[in-house]
Amino acid sequence: MRRQITGGCGCGAVRFEVVEPFLSAGYCHCTRCQRRTGTASSANARAVPGSVLVVQGEDELRGWTPEGGREKIFCARCGSALFSCEPGSGIYTGVRLGAIDGDPGIRPRSRAFVAYAAPWEAIPDDGLPRFDEARPGYDEGR
Ligand SMILES: [Zn+2]
Ligand SMILES: [Zn+2]
Repeated sequence: MRRQITGGCGCGAVRFEVVEPFLSAGYCHCTRCQRRTGTASSANARAVPGSVLVVQGEDELRGWTPEGGREKIFCARCGSALFSCEPGSGIYTGVRLGAIDGDPGIRPRSRAFVAYAAPWEAIPDDGLPRFDEARPGYDEGR
């Protein structure tokens, strides 16, 4: 039996379900993730295209598309970071792990963009592979 993955934003306006197991997950240390989260890194999962279903509050979603990057989707009411996608596609393939209720069923397996890591927090010595730029073939956080 497959466990349902659910999540939402901080204020509760936006709720979503993920109906397929996540494909991968990783930490992103890029400057954009630091800015948009206010933290040293961002934990993100990659979802099967079409598996992320917004079940409540879709009209509260807003996006920011940095130059050369993926669109970052957040709640307009509370600012919670939720998803990322190809700009304008509305097909969310990046999911912020912190938005998930409970266990997402996957653990971060790599650390990307460590060349840009925050100077104020040491990268944990957790044995995960580190990449100065994007993890080859993946872009969960960017
Ligand atoms: Zn919210
Ligand atoms: Zn990033």
